[in-house]
Amino acid sequence: MSLSDDSRKAVEPTPQGRFVFLNAPQPGGSSSVVPPATNDGMLIVDRSGKVAPLTRQADVVWRVPHGGRSIPLNQRFAQMWQLPRRVVNRLVAESNLRGALKKQELEVFFQPQANLLSGEIDGVEALVRWRHPSRGLILPDTFIPLAEQTGLILTLGDWVLRAACEQNAEWIRSGMRPLRMAVNISARQLDQPGLTDIVEGVLSDTGLGSNWLELEVTETATMRDPVKSIKALHDLRDLGLRISMDDFGTGYSSLAHVKDLPLDTLKIDRSLISGVTKSRSHAAIATAIVAMADGMDLEVVAEGVETRAQLAFVKGIRCDRYQGFLLGRPEPANQLGSVLEHSASERAA
Ligand code: C2E
Ligand code: MG
Ligand code: MG
Repeated sequence: MSLSDDSRKAVEPTPQGRFVFLNAPQPGGSSSVVPPATNDGMLIVDRSGKVAPLTRQADVVWRVPHGGRSIPLNQRFAQMWQLPRRVVNRLVAESNLRGALKKQELEVFFQPQANLLSGEIDGVEALVRWRHPSRGLILPDTFIPLAEQTGLILTLGDWVLRAACEQNAEWIRSGMRPLRMAVNISARQLDQPGLTDIVEGVLSDTGLGSNWLELEVTETATMRDPVKSIKALHDLRDLGLRISMDDFGTGYSSLAHVKDLPLDTLKIDRSLISGVTKSRSHAAIATAIVAMADGMDLEVVAEGVETRAQLAFVKGIRCDRYQGFLLGRPEPANQLGSVLEHSASERAA
């Protein structure tokens, strides 16, 4: 683990910054470092580049592999700073996430999607989770934004893409009816100059046909630099895969912008679907999105369908496909088998 360049800048000692070595011998004989009592945090960076907050717990954790000795006041640490708590928290979170990637604590779960006409499950969305050794399963909303800010999303995103394609290729090889695999691509990944080459490499390494891959982008991501995004999406689509616009109906939902993008699918956001049976405006917007998508030859996926009434509604307005807890939650690949085998036709009926 090491600090990214950005983070290094953030912890560069300033003239005002002060080192936090406290030389006073501690009760019990051995000298140690006293954790801060204020809102500020102390950050330690060891010689391998590992970052940790200096807390009483960190001290205790340190003692275990160090024969019970407290954090020493010698050259073990490359650097120590007193920093605002918020900065410490962020650096530690970044370091932890980097560690999670290295220690292979990330896992991809898969949530089924079904065709609304046939009721059959015909695809899954790959959704990343962090299986933390002490905190349990951590959902992506808590670490994807950090990964995005720090650039770690590039490594993480490549890993998810590869894992998802590998899994899909394996399912297909095992004789299962082929499914479409949807993978989320973040704004930073979309800006990456070599994205098409990466995707092409993953498809070739895993042996997955590009027609079984769909990349999900958000409107916000494509609006950061529309011209560049349009080019990137065209290049990706030329590989033979599909492009889906995720979370549609939440942001600007600019029709002018959407018409310029090479898209195959619009996913109506869960926040809209959750209101369709209770709010006339939600229902009207969802209906308008389907009409618009129809005129542009786009497929529509209703996301976050939780109730039978919502299912009936999205079927009624002629969405093409749906995804949601009613059909199935995101699950690890080995637990999804029964969901995939079980015909979804009853549920969609
Ligand atoms: P998303 O791409 O819009 O994914 C759909 C989210 O809605 C998932 O949350 C899914 O579990 C949740 N969901 C689906 N159906 C229902 C439902 O019926 N009810 C409720 N309450 N929730 C439902 P999850 O897995 O927590 O992911 C949250 C977001 O994190 C994703 O939203 C996506 O933006 C991001 N994300 C997840 N995995 C990745 C990844 O590998 N890369 C990137 N860049 N982003 C990811
Ligand atoms: Mg998505
Ligand atoms: Mg979504």
